[in-house]
Amino acid sequence: MTSSTASQVTVSDEGEGRLVTVRGAITEATDFTAALSAGPKRVTVELSGVDRVNSFGVRGWIRFVKALSDAGVACTLDGVSVAMVRQMNMIPQARGGAAVRTIYAPYYCEQCDDERALTLAAGATSAPEQATCPSCGGVMEFDDVQATYFAFLGEQRAS
Ligand SMILES: [Zn+2]
Repeated sequence: MTSSTASQVTVSDEGEGRLVTVRGAITEATDFTAALSAGPKRVTVELSGVDRVNSFGVRGWIRFVKALSDAGVACTLDGVSVAMVRQMNMIPQARGGAAVRTIYAPYYCEQCDDERALTLAAGATSAPEQATCPSCGGVMEFDDVQATYFAFLGEQRAS
C-alpha cells in the first residue's frame, strides 16, 4: 500500500452547478457534508487527485452519490482516477447513477519502470494499448485488461 495524503473535499458553487474536488485517500475520515448542502441542480465531482479508497471510505462515498441521486441532483464524475475506476469495477454501487465524463487509464513504462496514468478523451470506452511516456518519450503499455477496466461504464452505454 502506497502512502497517501489525507483526503480533502473542496466545494465551489457557480449558479446552479457545483464543483466538488476530492483529493488524496477516501477513508472513514472523508467528510462529504459540505458537498451535500442544498442548492445545486448539477454536481460535478473531480476525482483526478484520488489515489486510494479504503473499504470504509467507499461506504461513505456510496452514501454521498446516493444522497445526490435521492435529492434529484444530476451527478457527473470527471477525471476519474485509476484508484476510483478500480473501486467502481469492484463495487457497482460506487458509481451509482452518476454519469462519467473523463477517466484515467494506467500505463506502464518499461524504461522508467514506473506506472503512469493518462487521461482519456471524454466518453472513451477503451484505452489505446500503447502511449508515449511523458517522461522519457518511450512507449508505454496499457497496464490493465480493457474489458475489465471499462466494465463499470457498461450501464452508461446501455442507457
Ligand atoms: Zn518512461
